[in-house]
Amino acid sequence: MNINTELLHAGVVRDANGATFTPIYQNSAFAQDTAEQMEKIFENKAMGYCYTRVANPTVTAFENRITKLEGGMASIACSSGMAAIMNAVLGLVRSGEEIISSASLYGGTIDLFRDLEEYGITTRYVKNNDWEAIEAAFNEKTRAVFAETIGNPCLDVTDVERLAEIAHAHQVPLILDNTTATVYLFQGLVHGADIVINSSSKYINGNSNSISGVLTYSGSFRFDLEKYGGLSSYKQYGPMAYIAKLRNSFFRDSGACLAPMNAYLNQLGLETLGLRMQRQCENAFELAGWIDQNYTDITVNYPGLVSSPWHEIADRQFTKGYGGILTLRLGSKERAFRFMNALQIPYIVSNIGDTKTLVIHPASTIALHSTQEEREAAGVYEDLVRVSVGIEDVEDLKEDFAQAIAQL
Ligand SMILES: *Cc1c(COP(=O)(O)O)cnc(C)c1O
Repeated sequence: MNINTELLHAGVVRDANGATFTPIYQNSAFAQDTAEQMEKIFENKAMGYCYTRVANPTVTAFENRITKLEGGMASIACSSGMAAIMNAVLGLVRSGEEIISSASLYGGTIDLFRDLEEYGITTRYVKNNDWEAIEAAFNEKTRAVFAETIGNPCLDVTDVERLAEIAHAHQVPLILDNTTATVYLFQGLVHGADIVINSSSKYINGNSNSISGVLTYSGSFRFDLEKYGGLSSYKQYGPMAYIAKLRNSFFRDSGACLAPMNAYLNQLGLETLGLRMQRQCENAFELAGWIDQNYTDITVNYPGLVSSPWHEIADRQFTKGYGGILTLRLGSKERAFRFMNALQIPYIVSNIGDTKTLVIHPASTIALHSTQEEREAAGVYEDLVRVSVGIEDVEDLKEDFAQAIAQL
């Protein structure tokens, strides 16, 4: 089936009462009929629910839909995108071991990887798609390769198949943060990634009404259990060892669970993800091209423009569009602020992927905790404004942008 049909129907299990949409199990605890049954569930010998920190039916329904959409084996929904990244990484990497990551990352992920240094996990940053540098960064301690499909906010596009090939040649899995592209544009697992992360707070939810994240595992990466020592006690789960480990250790024990209400809202968002993404990609494409043509003193960065260094990879990898985010370089921080303050329609907020157009000055906000070097590697400059394009009528956006630019 095609994506819009899948978004509505894939992985949906009809509720016992025939409800046409997943009910909200707003419950912390689930009773069992006998002590024996409770014991079985705790021993993983029977399916069932006990406690929402471990599992909840509304959350399971969300996980199953994401798993189907991504073409994976299993998913774990988390309290935030950051919790999903932390779990994905800590399920594999232990103290004394290393991650190789594209330097073009979301600021929060850079902050997390810096936090992990304190626990003995080192991240080696490499320029995205710089194959020689990536190859050179591997050593016997490397346990994961990490990248974003479309870097936020650099908007560089990772050649996922090539990166996965290199990672696999070193018997290391590729973790791909697909938040900005979404499954509408790109199925990471189908193109070689082993674990896909979505901050579902963004496009999946779509209306900025809940923070959440989800990780999905392909089930096809063969972990060497000597190298990935943490998985060895989950050997009996076969291809599910990685997910079983998270569910029975760090995910459960860190309390990173998703609230049932938020899982419900995300499923509501999923139904229209395709429609929204289609419109957001069209609007972003139109807006980027129009600014690029009409305002020579503003540099537009958008993978859909031929001038983007990543246009060719984007063209090859994505068939439905180039994403809903563009960035503008306005010449100075002062001009960037003046432009943002003059806009009437967009909100000045720190997230992306809303139905409404959103703008932010990354250097003074989401990349505030990064060093100058980290910022430039992540495509953040003093004069840069990130625009997450919404589903408004593009003529209105153009008119608003035109009047704001005129005030410069
Ligand atoms: C927002 C975002 C995250 C973090 O997600 P939260 O839900 O805010 O924790 C991770 N990666 C990318 C690319 C993001 O845009």
